[in-house]
Amino acid sequence: MARKIFIAGNWKMNKTAAEAKALCEALKESLAPLAGKVEVAVCPTFTSLATAVEVLKGSNVKVGAQNIHWADNGAFTGEISGAMLQEIGVEYVIIGHSERRQYFGETDATVNARIKAALKYALKPIVCIGETLEEREGGITNSVLDKQIRGGLADITAADMANITIAYEPVWAIGTGKTATPDMAQETHAFIRKTLVEMFGEAGNEVVVQYGGSMKPENSAELIAKEDIDGGLIGGAALKADSFTALVKNGIGA
Ligand code: PEP
Repeated sequence: MARKIFIAGNWKMNKTAAEAKALCEALKESLAPLAGKVEVAVCPTFTSLATAVEVLKGSNVKVGAQNIHWADNGAFTGEISGAMLQEIGVEYVIIGHSERRQYFGETDATVNARIKAALKYALKPIVCIGETLEEREGGITNSVLDKQIRGGLADITAADMANITIAYEPVWAIGTGKTATPDMAQETHAFIRKTLVEMFGEAGNEVVVQYGGSMKPENSAELIAKEDIDGGLIGGAALKADSFTALVKNGIGA
């Protein structure tokens, strides 16, 4: 069973480069005592990535991007390539966030193409999946997740899964203050784990599966204590050094 804990902050479209620099400097210091106990990453906007990499060099805080295009280069206005991210020292990349699916036409097929591009450039994908409130209330959560997992991870090998994180983010819990109860989240994480094992055998047991959706310092311990919840993808609570640090510390019982 995967028991590596990985907590990543998704800053979304927040923080100018100067603000990002200040937050990275604060996190570098506040998270230093947790080195070796937990994997932590921050995912700023494209304009702050190089600064974040520079500030966090040599620290235990890793840097991720929020998107990657599947092509190596070309006429794709507004997109960014794996080579560009790799060159500046980015390690992770969020793929298929529900906001991308909802507002920018992301599908399981484009998620799959982006994952393959990330792996090609030795970037580690954080692949987001999750059901809407309508889907949960309609009792189809598991079939929605099954489709997202199998579609998103089509043609991906068991060996590749060592570099892929899954972030389960119920859409109704993102930025709403509504959190899945730890038991509800665990039940869904167990289903995701079962699906990953069906697809990848023993390697499926080793995949880090994060929970995302209004995780905060007050509930990170309870959520991450659950057997199949291996960390979190954090939105709002990742935007301040004190709340993100407290969330990480509580999450690992430090
Ligand atoms: C997210 O968008 O990945 C997220 C989990 O946001 P929040 O923590 O604000 O709900």
